[in-house]
Amino acid sequence: MKQLADGVFQLGGFPPNAINAYLIDDILIDASTRFATRRILRELQGHDLAAHALTHAHPDHQGASHAVCERYGVPFWVGEADAAAAENPDLIGARQPDHFLAQFFAKTMTGPAHHVDRTLREGDEVGSFKVLDTPGHSAGHVAFWRESDGVLVLGDVLNNMDVLTAIPGLTEPKGFLTPDPEENRRSAKKLGALEPKLVLFGHGAPLRDTKKFADFVAGLPD
Ligand SMILES: [Zn+2]
Repeated sequence: MKQLADGVFQLGGFPPNAINAYLIDDILIDASTRFATRRILRELQGHDLAAHALTHAHPDHQGASHAVCERYGVPFWVGEADAAAAENPDLIGARQPDHFLAQFFAKTMTGPAHHVDRTLREGDEVGSFKVLDTPGHSAGHVAFWRESDGVLVLGDVLNNMDVLTAIPGLTEPKGFLTPDPEENRRSAKKLGALEPKLVLFGHGAPLRDTKKFADFVAGLPD
């Protein structure tokens, strides 16, 4: 695990930065695919865990969620409009665009269902962070924002890596994995206006270049 800010850690992944999970305070944010379950549990060894939260209920973010919550006996927190999908993973595929890759990922990577103990909405506190509603990539997508030092965990509102080629760089999430790209773009604009100092992505390396982030968002079509 690598420390990125006060109380903020990135779990090790393979390949590095491809599918990210973070520990903020004592809360695990996202849990990769079900194939990463053993690695996630190993990474968490020696750390206290108080809860597990998702940015969104997609197969590459909730894969190990059930295993983590069971192992640590911690509550599961999910954005309000994604809670049903986290509790019934059949909905994850059903809510994805009807594209063969989206359906293939849903079929192969999705982890088991797990009961949601708390639904998250705008303004809720998650450790030292506040929840921001950022729908579009999924209906209940949320981001986590800490204004005091400008740290933003934004899930898949934007990617800092092409998820198919692994080529680094800021990009919108793939259209075939995003049910409502226009709404997602509105969410991206909301986050760009925050001018974060450190941006943590679901896919891609952490970004500490506020101007690069704000300029990219400003350049997105309205
Ligand atoms: Zn993702």
